[in-house]
Amino acid sequence: MVCALALNRRGIPVTVFEQEPAPVEDQRAASLHPTTLEMLDDLGVTEKIIPLGLVSSAYRFHDRVSYSVVAEFDLDQMRDEFRFPFVLQYEQYKLTASIAAEYANASDFDVRFSHAVTGLTETADGVDVEFISPGGTEHVQASYVIGCDGGRSTVRKLADIEFEGFTYPERFIKIATSFDLGVANPKVAFRNYFSDPNEWCNLFKVQGKRPPGLWRAIMPIKAEETDEAVLDPEAIEQRLQKFFPKIGRYDVEYVNVYAAHQRVAATFRKGRVLLAGDSAHVNNPIGGMGMNGGIHDGINLADKLARVIHGEGADELLDVYSRQRRHAAVKYVQAQTIANKRLMEERDPAVRQTNFDELRHTAENAETAKAYMRRAALADSLRDAAAVT
Ligand SMILES: Cc1cc2nc3c(=O)[nH]c(=O)nc-3n(C[C@H](O)[C@H](O)[C@H](O)COP(=O)(O)OP(=O)(O)OC[C@H]3O[C@@H](n4cnc5c(N)ncnc54)[C@H](O)[C@@H]3O)c2cc1C
Repeated sequence: MVCALALNRRGIPVTVFEQEPAPVEDQRAASLHPTTLEMLDDLGVTEKIIPLGLVSSAYRFHDRVSYSVVAEFDLDQMRDEFRFPFVLQYEQYKLTASIAAEYANASDFDVRFSHAVTGLTETADGVDVEFISPGGTEHVQASYVIGCDGGRSTVRKLADIEFEGFTYPERFIKIATSFDLGVANPKVAFRNYFSDPNEWCNLFKVQGKRPPGLWRAIMPIKAEETDEAVLDPEAIEQRLQKFFPKIGRYDVEYVNVYAAHQRVAATFRKGRVLLAGDSAHVNNPIGGMGMNGGIHDGINLADKLARVIHGEGADELLDVYSRQRRHAAVKYVQAQTIANKRLMEERDPAVRQTNFDELRHTAENAETAKAYMRRAALADSLRDAAAVT
């Protein structure tokens, strides 16, 4: 939706095909980094969503074994560098639905639900797109197709683009509770990473649908554990009580289990077919980088594609898009999320201690803390990718 809006702002007519009948309420991404907020601001979106989300300037690393805070990074220190020196906790499903509702109601920004793309045939001057809608199988002609259709992308498969990488043997469980962990435990910020050799945890707050909001915990589950066993309400209760013991049962708003992958498409461009977002790259959620990287793709691509369509740039710009964003995905998002997971799950006590000491020193020194936050906010990835030709 962000890519479509950015293209539309550049005078390019866009049609979005979404296979689901309505905007998908998928409880995944929620952290918008400062770099992404700047891009959304250029589209006039940021000021509208700030009052609807949670402003989170500090994030904390905890040692779950000793119940201590190892390090805190505060984006407020980045006021001189970031227009928005905080992360906005605002669910992706709200962002996409609000863009669709507010902007996509003109013939040149057409969002069609219950339309599933099933085929692509490249022609001399465009792409024939086959889709299934309630009316049956139909076709439309497009100048270009952008696959923003998620990790299992049909567009990527139809274009026969490899999705290189690996899938973790363990899966992750995500549990959301309305119990206000932030009030109950003052050590907790809106965004937290708990290192634990047995069960690391990411804990974040989102607004959800009503006050006091939701706390979302993501933890690993063993490869041999069945969905049935981990989704059993008693097992969920025990998991939460082990994490933070309290009197009375937890109110669980939702829970799901999912596989995590580290994969990047071999190319983000093949002829007139382009990939952006999870269709181009997937990663574990530690660090909140997947959606942010996808939005960065969408903005980069919209700019270059608009120039190509308007005759202001050569077709090769689309290859530059592929190289720049693939570089950002491989060198930054993949590398950082893999490292983040290792830090969270490290088992060797000596290595854990060394990791914590390094993290503490990094956070305590203003310059190293800023460098850390620049990288975590994907600012380094944008600067470095922009230099790729
Ligand atoms: C638990 C969890 C927490 C996360 N937290 C964060 C976070 O805080 N920050 C962050 O940056 N990232 C986070 N991520 C990653 C993030 O959720 C994804 O990177 C992001 O949702 C990908 O968005 P997307 O638009 O590329 O794909 P999707 O959100 O998967 O959207 C793809 C859409 O395409 C539609 N579609 C699929 N096939 C077709 C077809 N053939 N025709 C038409 N429509 C089709 C689907 O219905 C879907 O609506 C998290 C992931 C998980 C699992």
